Amino acid sequence: MIPFYKLERYEGNEALFELVMMSIVSSYVGEPLHVHAEGLRGTGKTTIMRAARDILPTIERIKGCIYNCDPAAPHCPHHKNLSAEEIKAIGVEVIPMPFLEISHSAKVGTVAGSIDLARLTDPAHPEAQLLPGIIPQAHRGIIFIDEINRLADTSPEITDILLDVMGNKPGHLQIEEAGLPVVEIPVSVSVWAASNPDEEPGPLEEIRRQLSDRFDMVCYMGRPDSLDILANMLEENSHFHKAKQANEAETAAADESKNEQYRNDIIKWAAMYEKTDLPDFLRNFIARLYIKHNLESIRAIQAMQQGAVLHSVLKNRDKVMITDVTYMIPLVLKHRVDGDTLVRMINDVDSRGSKDGILNFKGRKNKKDESDPEYFQQVARPLKDMHRGELVHTEKTLTPSDF
Ligand SMILES: [Zn+2]
Repeated sequence: MIPFYKLERYEGNEALFELVMMSIVSSYVGEPLHVHAEGLRGTGKTTIMRAARDILPTIERIKGCIYNCDPAAPHCPHHKNLSAEEIKAIGVEVIPMPFLEISHSAKVGTVAGSIDLARLTDPAHPEAQLLPGIIPQAHRGIIFIDEINRLADTSPEITDILLDVMGNKPGHLQIEEAGLPVVEIPVSVSVWAASNPDEEPGPLEEIRRQLSDRFDMVCYMGRPDSLDILANMLEENSHFHKAKQANEAETAAADESKNEQYRNDIIKWAAMYEKTDLPDFLRNFIARLYIKHNLESIRAIQAMQQGAVLHSVLKNRDKVMITDVTYMIPLVLKHRVDGDTLVRMINDVDSRGSKDGILNFKGRKNKKDESDPEYFQQVARPLKDMHRGELVHTEKTLTPSDF
């Protein structure tokens, strides 16, 4: 697998690199950020998400706790009622931030939890106990789901579990097994998903709108369109290159030092994130967007706030700027509003200077020009006639270069 830092970055996939990083930083401080990458086959969305596993920082947990109990805030059935002294006696250990995958054919027992058969049939101490599934084991980390649209289509039970897990931050999980008391635990996991909306069964927002809305951000992956980038990607993938790299011990050391650099950045950004808040005027700006464009989803504007702060932190700025907010608009709204509204909003914010945009917003006491049917003339093209791909292109401004 090509290490994260060596993956080619280009206009069409840049946003995913940033979202992945933002989500790791946010997960590290205990606030999940759910990210969905959509795109055609071969755009590398799953490659980027899976490669990020190697740059995850470590976390500290109560020694041996399969639920990843934070020693400072134990939550699992075994440790939640223990005193600080008792936890100290058990000890702590450092593990990599969890990164677990749910396949679209997964079963409820595997995902949530099931009865621990090994313990039940232990001849010395037969005991009915719960074996936590993938989600509780990913607490304080990441869960990755490829082909989320197929999962939503074929597994309504798992979809319901995800709705609970992603419903609040942190979410919660209920594990039920016949013969055992129901266990309810908080889970703080960021869900990363990928799908190809052009393949069966179609875009997630059309299959399970509620689940689609749980994703804070969706980014649509474009294909690389530069010869240089394609040539580099080919080189990384050639047998000769891979064989040569595999033989070099320095390569492994260099990869690890790059990964370590990412981990240090993530920890630094996490500390910054805990100290940064959105200024009031930007919060008002977001609130106005909500009202003006009749957005419906409160999650959308919450994601806009969380995303804007994280974006500014990744840029090593100590202040959140209007551009951090406007950068989030397409990512936060693509799956939540119709193409009409999205294009109108982007044009609305883009067509003026960013500062102008706000002033104009503030200054506009009445909505006269907006209710005027001529208002949107310059952007008016019957959007109902546009297909999905075209809207996405409008949003990403993918301009193919001339070869
Ligand atoms: Zn525990």
